Amino acid sequence: MRVRFGAATDIGRARGRNEDSYLVHEPLFAVADGMGGHRGGDVASSLAVAALRRAAESGNASWSLLIEEFQEANREVFERGNDQAELHGMGTTLTAVFLMDAEARIAHVGDSRAYLLRDGSLHLLTEDHTLVERMVQAGKLTRTEARHHPQRSILTRALGVEEDLPVDEVTLPLLAGDRLLLCTDGLTSMIDEDAIRDLLLGEPNSQAACEGLIDAANKAGGDDNITVVLLDVEEVAQAPTGQADTTTLTGAASEDRPNVFAKPQGKGGAAAEKPARRGPIRWRRPVAWGGAVLLVLLAGFFGVRTYAGHQWYVGDADGQVAIYNGIPSEIVGFKLSHVEEVTDLQTVQAERLQPWKGLESGITASSFQDAQAIVDQIRLDIGALGSS
Ligand code: CA
Repeated sequence: MRVRFGAATDIGRARGRNEDSYLVHEPLFAVADGMGGHRGGDVASSLAVAALRRAAESGNASWSLLIEEFQEANREVFERGNDQAELHGMGTTLTAVFLMDAEARIAHVGDSRAYLLRDGSLHLLTEDHTLVERMVQAGKLTRTEARHHPQRSILTRALGVEEDLPVDEVTLPLLAGDRLLLCTDGLTSMIDEDAIRDLLLGEPNSQAACEGLIDAANKAGGDDNITVVLLDVEEVAQAPTGQADTTTLTGAASEDRPNVFAKPQGKGGAAAEKPARRGPIRWRRPVAWGGAVLLVLLAGFFGVRTYAGHQWYVGDADGQVAIYNGIPSEIVGFKLSHVEEVTDLQTVQAERLQPWKGLESGITASSFQDAQAIVDQIRLDIGALGSS
């Protein structure tokens, strides 16, 4: 296979630094979009891309090695985040293409995207791991509403935030003339798919097309960092060998059906949304949960990505004190939390005690362990009341 490629990244017009990273190292190409306070976002996306670069530079890069490197990158980012207080909670998206024989193999986590331009039509190859995408699939939002939703940056899956990482995998037989685009959400949140398609159709040069996409996103506001990698397939040596059922293109991508595959070949399924056991210290317990909701709303407003599975609180579940993962709120009817553990303590008993009066509305914890410590304290206090 012979490919030409271009790549470009830009800080955009609103951010103080660029937390995106990318890799072009034939046969491996990737984009990553970091999240986290301080330098967390930079560190997470750089670590993830560095792991893939190792695989590419080893000279024996293979598809299985790439998936292994996703897992290795996940461990590295996760461990670094747990070891360094200022990096707690960092994570990153990672979307990679590995070219092999006459195929593109795509591995994907988060809300960066891979697109295929073929015969004048743009096809989305990946599925966003975001709360709004889940709402779209449940019929609660249209795709157009999702694009402008203030909470569109809340990820349901990211690399580096939990020990197990389900990775979506897609295989696509390539044809000469195909253009594969990898991009972070700084592009897709600024310009729509018709504009991306038109720009790609209008600029045959790979590098110039990348720069044109970045200019367009900046002209539309440049609210976020923008990164694009474009592969132009010039020649494919052999006939495609991929399985037809995963690669059938269903005509032009539309607002209603942007994903040409019925389902990405994820390994995780439901496990994908499993909450992280260990959360970062985002805020201290005395901060009311209102602060947590505010953080999510602000994060949405500023387009900063957050990870709902990282928040914990102690609250009430049908009269029992319980530990929740998430935040005690909902967006358009979608609960942002679920019960992780129900205790044998009664809420009504705990609420008789001054410090635990707010239990019903939720007491924020910095981690699952912190939530358990709060429960232990409630237990002690109830015990002390009983014996006094
Ligand atoms: Ca971004």
